[in-house]
Amino acid sequence: MHCLDCRTAGTNSPTVGVCQSCGAGIRTAHARIATRSVRRGSLIGTPGEAEARTVLCPVCAAAAEPPASVLTL
Ligand SMILES: [Zn+2]
Ligand SMILES: [Zn+2]
Repeated sequence: MHCLDCRTAGTNSPTVGVCQSCGAGIRTAHARIATRSVRRGSLIGTPGEAEARTVLCPVCAAAAEPPASVLTL
């Protein structure tokens, strides 16, 4: 698969991931990786939190509410 943004710009770049919102293939330079906290465990007992990863293309990342922990590769 090729990066959608690069493909529309006329170049072919291999993808490293897929946008979790629109499904477009994205290359490293275009990937927007965000982390979000996911609660684990049952409602009773000690809740735990884990960091989950979200990969977005630049378009969807710009449209989404900007998380505080967006990392640009
Ligand atoms: Zn690209
Ligand atoms: Zn997208």
